[in-house]
Parts: sequence; C-alpha cells; structure tokens
Amino acid sequence: MNRYTHQELFAPLGAPGQSLLQDSTVLLVGVGATGSVLAESLVRAGIGELRIFDRDLVEEGNLPRQALYTEEDIGQPKARAAKARLAAINSKVRLEAQVADARPGLMDPWLDGVDLLLDGTDNFRTRFMLNDLAHQRKIPWIYTAAVGETAICMPVLPGETACLECLYPDMPEDGLSCDTGGVLYPAVLAAAAMSAAEAMKILAGYPESVIRKLRHREIWSGRRANLSTDRAREGCPACAGNYRHLGTVDEELYVVARCSNSCQISPAAGTAPPNLDTLAQRPGARRGPYALEIEHDGIAFRIFPDGQAIAEGSGNRNKVTSLYRRLMEEDAR
Ligand SMILES: [Zn+2]
Repeated sequence: MNRYTHQELFAPLGAPGQSLLQDSTVLLVGVGATGSVLAESLVRAGIGELRIFDRDLVEEGNLPRQALYTEEDIGQPKARAAKARLAAINSKVRLEAQVADARPGLMDPWLDGVDLLLDGTDNFRTRFMLNDLAHQRKIPWIYTAAVGETAICMPVLPGETACLECLYPDMPEDGLSCDTGGVLYPAVLAAAAMSAAEAMKILAGYPESVIRKLRHREIWSGRRANLSTDRAREGCPACAGNYRHLGTVDEELYVVARCSNSCQISPAAGTAPPNLDTLAQRPGARRGPYALEIEHDGIAFRIFPDGQAIAEGSGNRNKVTSLYRRLMEEDAR
C-alpha cells in the first residue's frame, strides 16, 4: 500500500494516471470558497505543484464556506493561511502562494510549466481574463462557480471545446452576486467536486474523458441543466486569438468592484509603491500586520506595501478611484 493506492485502484485513473498527476503543476486563482475545496482536493490527490494567487484576508464571514480556514486565520492573507494548511495536509506537494491580484503582468512568471488553470474567483472580469490567458498559452482551464444553491462547472480545452466567450459574447454582469444571492456551502462543494474531477482527468492524461458541457446543478431544488460545449462558436474572439480581456494590465490603476460593497485597487506594474510611513501619520490610520488601514471620506482603505488596496464601503469604482488617487497625492507631498 502506498499513500495513493485507493486512487490508483480506481481503474479509470490507475497507476499511470496517478504518476502523471504527481508530475503536474496547477495554478489556482482565488482561494475562497470554491478555491479552498479545489486546492484541498488536488493537494490530497497528490499533484506535483500548486501555485495560488489571492489578495484577500480571511474574515469571519468566510468561515461558513471557505474550508481551508479556521478562526485562528482571521486577518491573515488567504494565500498564506491556505499554504500553511495545505502543507500540513500533504508535504510532498510543492506550494507557491502569492498574496497578489491575478493580473496578466503579475501572473506571467508563474504561468511557465502550468498544466491547468483553475478558477476559484467570484467574478466574470477575472474569468474572462483567465479565458484569454488560457487560449493565449494553450493551457486548459475550468470555470467553477457557486452562487446561492447553484453549482456550475465547465472545462475549457483551448482549440477543442467552446470557451467562456463562446457562451457569453458579452461579459455578463455579476448580477446574482454573493451579496444579493447568498451562497450555500453544499453548492460550493458540488461545484468544486465536479471541477476537481475534471482537473484530475486533464492532469492524469485523459482529456478525452473530460465532460464537454457546462453543468448546472441546483442542490436545494434538485433542478439541473447541461449545455453542450463540444464545439467553439463561430466568430468567438478568444477562440480566434483576439484577446480582449488582457488589455487592462497597462491601465494606470485597475479598479474592480467586488462583492460586499467594496472595490479592489491595483496600480499598474512599475508604479512606485506608496510611502506607508507617511500615510500612517494621518489621523485614524492604523498599521496592521499586513497592511495600513485608513479611513477616507467614509471608505475604509486597506493599503498593502506594493500599493494594492481594498476599499470597503463603496462599490462605485469612480468614487473609489478618485479617493485613492487623492490619498496617494497627499502621500507624495
Ligand atoms: Zn470561444
């Protein structure tokens, strides 16, 4: 018996599949609800290397559905807490954790040698960026989502299957977001379970076994639907090599509205980092272990040493952008 005997005994995977799995490298964007389960599943399964990107900190409100974290992790960056937990689960897996936004420029060095991209995010903007990156690099990726009672899984094999942009010619609004719709942990588990199985097929060298469908499962009501994805849509930009969602990296400031009335702010690569010592002099500023916390016009900013920030109290990108710029100008004076 070895550690993976029970996996190898499952004939469709087998010892040859397990061996390929152990040589594989996965990049996971977002280690919140679905990302936690995806990471744990693949680390337990014994992949070779897992690279994680996540900027957020663990909050109490994450604990009902973000399986890698405990009360002790509150306030810590998710990427770091996840790495510690995953290392305790399987010390044989190489783990890389970046406390950073997943943006094309920042991700580039981490894409080399990656066999699969996984979506642990909660927004279409990042997913469309992943869809473009996957096609540009010819790396498979899996769209995974859990909203309310609904679990969604769609593997994308560039050049073979339909992609996210084939299905949605226009990027959908994140309408039924975590705030308006809520989310149940069993829906998270269902979505991540479907995607982890597809991930294992891809990594173990069985792409022909991949389920070429967008699967939609409602775990409360029992409703279900499948949409075939075995062919790309004629005229799909991403499938034709026109990557419309990678361009944001050159913007001076990249601001994304997130769930829970907040925005995420990322200065372009090469921007000089702010002087947190100067900003810390402002009334009401508080130095946390990972970031500077500062209140500005009713918005609570958490500013990281590299200038990236989270602004809580508004989902209005224009307002948050101008307040952030004003803070940075004061810092420069
Ligand atoms: Zn497409």
